[in-house]
Order: sequence, then C-alpha cells, then structure tokens
Amino acid sequence: MQDVWNTESLAALDKAHCWHPFTQMKAWCAEDHEPVILVEGEGATLRDSRGREYLDGNSSIWTTIHGHGHPKITAAIRDQLARVAHVSFLGTTNAPAVELAGRLAGLFPPRTLSRVFFSDDGSTAIEAAMKMAIQFWQLGGDPARKRFVAFDQAYHGDTAGAASLGGIGAFHDRFAGHQFPVDRISCPEELDRIPSGEIAAVVIEPLIQGAAGMRVWPRGLLRRLRGKCDATGALLILDEVLTGFGRTGTMFACEQENVIPDFLCIAKGLTGGYLPLAATLTTERVFSAFLGEFDEQKTFYYGHSYTGNALGCAAALAGLDVFREEKVLEKLQPKIAVMADSLGELKGHACVHEIRQCGFLAGIEVRDRGGEVFPWQARTGGRICEAARKHGLLTRPVLDTIVLMPPLCTSESQLRSAVAAIGLAIGEVCGG
Ligand SMILES: *Cc1c(COP(=O)(O)O)cnc(C)c1O
Repeated sequence: MQDVWNTESLAALDKAHCWHPFTQMKAWCAEDHEPVILVEGEGATLRDSRGREYLDGNSSIWTTIHGHGHPKITAAIRDQLARVAHVSFLGTTNAPAVELAGRLAGLFPPRTLSRVFFSDDGSTAIEAAMKMAIQFWQLGGDPARKRFVAFDQAYHGDTAGAASLGGIGAFHDRFAGHQFPVDRISCPEELDRIPSGEIAAVVIEPLIQGAAGMRVWPRGLLRRLRGKCDATGALLILDEVLTGFGRTGTMFACEQENVIPDFLCIAKGLTGGYLPLAATLTTERVFSAFLGEFDEQKTFYYGHSYTGNALGCAAALAGLDVFREEKVLEKLQPKIAVMADSLGELKGHACVHEIRQCGFLAGIEVRDRGGEVFPWQARTGGRICEAARKHGLLTRPVLDTIVLMPPLCTSESQLRSAVAAIGLAIGEVCGG
C-alpha cells in the first residue's frame, strides 16, 4: 500500500523536534521505534498512517466521550468557526460561553453550583479552585485557613499548584521543595488530626482515583468526607476531570453519593474530547465573597488568554445535546454490564491480580504468578499495551494496571474485542 501520509518522514521530524509528555525520549527516538501516527478517527475507532485500525481504548487519554468525528459536534465547531473562533472573556463575553455556563449550572440542583469559571484544562480548573479557596478565606476574615488537604496517591494535574496536591511519588516528589502546604490523608477520619481552623479546602477525585491506577473508593467515603467538611467548615473541591460526563455511569460521580461540593472541576470530557476547555463551578456563597467596590480589591485576579473560548464552548454545548438526544446515559447502563461480564473472562489468567471497574472505566492489574508486583523496571504494563496494539487496541497503562475506558459510544462487540485483545496481550507478555 502506498504510504500517502509519509510515515517515515513524519516520524523522523517528530524525533527531531517533538518532546512528548510522560515519555522517555531516548527510547522514543531510538532507530527501531516507529511511533504510531494517528491520522483519522470515527466513533470509537482510530486509524494510523499505515492504515491500521484500533479501538480507542483510553478515549485518547481519557477525553473522548462521544467518539471521534461526531457529526453534531463537528458541525457545531464549524458553525462557530464561521462566526468567530475566539474573543476575550476579559471585558467582553460571547454567546456559546454564556449559554454553556447556564447549561452546566442547570445540571445541578438550583442554588447550588450556579457559578462557572472557565479555563483550559484539568490542571487550571484545579488551580482556579485553589486560588478561589485561599482568597475566599482571606476575604471572609479567616486568613489562617490556607492549608489544603489531599489524599494519598491523588492526581490533580501537573501545573505547580495542582501538582502540590498530587500524592504520586514518581511524579511529584522531586518538586517537593516547591509546593504549597498540603496535608495528606487516606480516609476522611484522618482529617481529625489537622487543626480544622487551618484548612482552606479538601480535594478528592470522587469514586475513583485515576492516575493512582484506577483505585475505586469504598462506597460512602465521599458522603463521609462531605460530612467532615461540613463539621469543620473546610471547603470541598471535587476533581471530576476524569469522572465527569458519564464516565462512572452518571453525569457526575458526586451524584452517586448525593454530594454537592463547594467547587467542582471539570475538563477532559467537557467538549466531548474535541477541544481543550475546563470549568470550575462554585456556589453563590463563594462567589458573593468576591463582590465589592473596585477599591476594596476583592476581584479574583486570575485568568487565561483562552478563557471562555468560543469554539470549545460550542463543542461542549453540542456534547451536552448528544447526551440528551442520543440517550447516552441510558444506553450506557447495559454496556457497563457487558464490560463487567467480559472482564470476568480475564480473571482466569494467572497474572491478572485484580480488576477494578467503576462505571465505564476499568483497570486490570497484572502481577506475577505469586501475586507479587513485577519490578517496575520491567515495564510489564507498557509491554502489554504495546502487544495489544497488534490486536487492534490502543491504550496506556498506569504502571502495571491496563486502562480500559473507551468512548461511551463503543459497541458491545467492540468492547468484547477490546477485552479479548487485553487477554491475548497479557498471555503474550506474561506467558499463557
Ligand atoms: C487528567 C486529570 C487532571 C489534569 O487534567 P489536564 O487536562 O491534564 O491538566 C486532573 N485531575 C484528574 C483526576 C485527571 O484525571
């Protein structure tokens, strides 16, 4: 087949000039490594420059909720593009952003999360929540509340403030001298050992910690955490960057425990995975603390150039329409059951240590036959995912946990093929 995409010259140019995130570039740039160059996508399927097809097994790094090339989202972006792509949200406003703010607030009970602050990605949504929390307490006459509390193994993004909250040693330890003060807990009850008058906010990934390796929280933990925050006056920040937009089976994970936070951070799936856009939702209680005369200096001095980006907001509005028009959440429930059922078939493999599923998201952890973790230097999870490509599945592990979280539009047969690919790959790497 003729290589219309010029794979070899693209690969050479990439190796000459690109620097990829979370990637050891020495191995990437090695002569015998040909990067997968993705050129087309349709629904849950991606195609590379060599014409090979894959199921998008991790929704393009956890973002693509409605699949690729959705006609409704594509048209919405085109229509907006024909009017204007981007205008400033500092001093002016724009129709899609206004409409989206209203639609997002409308996803929660009236008079709860009624204010929407836009930014660009998950990390900045967290940064905004952190700064709002600090300034909220300064304005409220309680400036001693400036500590954050986060959970062991947490991941909240890579910008410096968000990374301060992170509890994954390999990512975060080397920057330990450059971080905000953060106390770390492993359950809500441990909040009792921190002087409650010093806590600005507590932050958690509700229902499931993603980057920790798809670790599912015990049921009821989120509810208990809300109770503790109410008792101590600490604000609660929910990081729904991963869990938002149907991933856990409901629109937002917090619905499953009937919890309303003081801040809700959303990003990855907000635009259906089409454009970078994020939002920090908060309450009128927080918002109103920032209201005052100009010279009172209560303004929230924070923002990014692309705040309220019109294209991103148009995509997000279309994504919300897709949820409604295509009954995405209703159709998802049987698929969640199919995912559980087909993952069950992997349990017989001697190296499958644990399967953790939360809604339409699963982590398959492999260990050696004795139940011991493989040495991390062996890159077992990474090699399994590379092997799975040959069987038509594209995904990435977290250490030795294989991530399966395809777009919500994935069909039952695609899902079963993806699980079969993981089974074959585990067999190839770990032995039958
Ligand atoms: C991905 C992620 C983030 C960071 O989002 P970016 O868009 O990568 O900055 C924050 N929190 C959670 C739970 C995430 O999964």
